[in-house]
Amino acid sequence: MCEQNDAGVTGLPVSVVVDSGSAPGAPDSDLLEELSAANRILARYRVVDAFGHISVRHPHSSDHFLLARNMAPAQVKPADVVTFSLDGTPVDAAGRGVYLERFIHGEIYRLRPDVQSVVHSHAPAVVPFGIVEGAALRPVWHMSGFLGLKTPVFEIRHHGGEATDLLIRDRALGTALGECLADNNVVLMRGHGATVVGDSIRQSVYRAVFTQVNAELQLQAHQLGEINFLTAGECETASLSVGSQVDRAWNLWKEEVS
Ligand code: MN
Repeated sequence: MCEQNDAGVTGLPVSVVVDSGSAPGAPDSDLLEELSAANRILARYRVVDAFGHISVRHPHSSDHFLLARNMAPAQVKPADVVTFSLDGTPVDAAGRGVYLERFIHGEIYRLRPDVQSVVHSHAPAVVPFGIVEGAALRPVWHMSGFLGLKTPVFEIRHHGGEATDLLIRDRALGTALGECLADNNVVLMRGHGATVVGDSIRQSVYRAVFTQVNAELQLQAHQLGEINFLTAGECETASLSVGSQVDRAWNLWKEEVS
């Protein structure tokens, strides 16, 4: 059987896309190392498993981003990183498979110039908050003030109909997800997972890890009774204060996966 890839070219495995455009110059090797370490950290902290991914905006071109080829995050090495245009077209994949959901990254970078790194995951702890009517992921402690008062939930049925595979397979769905994220730091995806943004790889990793921890704590606390959530002011102040400690977490986590 002849398979068709994303670009409509036949005879190649699904998710192999023909390169187009030129690379904006090689990123610093330290950045590629940082992105590889981020993949391993997210795997170690169970934010990602065989699936999920993290990207960073290209340091030399805001119209490009860096994301691993199609593979399990824990196995990503600097040589596996591919450059993409914001429309999701690879520049230097050279026949290597790419993630179907790369449009999550490109469309968020297009809609949010402030975002420098994006994590997409199927973190199990957050999934219940996207599938139960009336449930809301909200900050229960000082480590997750970045969640703000309410985490939006993306409903793919409103954009892709009743029979999608729930994946963000094209630019239109990526744009719809980015619009649902709006100016928040986290968006849940009904029946799928979550997408988290930050102003650096370190910040998006920190937020992805503590989004998951907050979900676990909120579920536990809910069994005890009514939860006393952070106020808007506490979210803001705690975000600024704990946010300045991101490097401390990063330095520990990086050593753990070295
Ligand atoms: Mn996904």
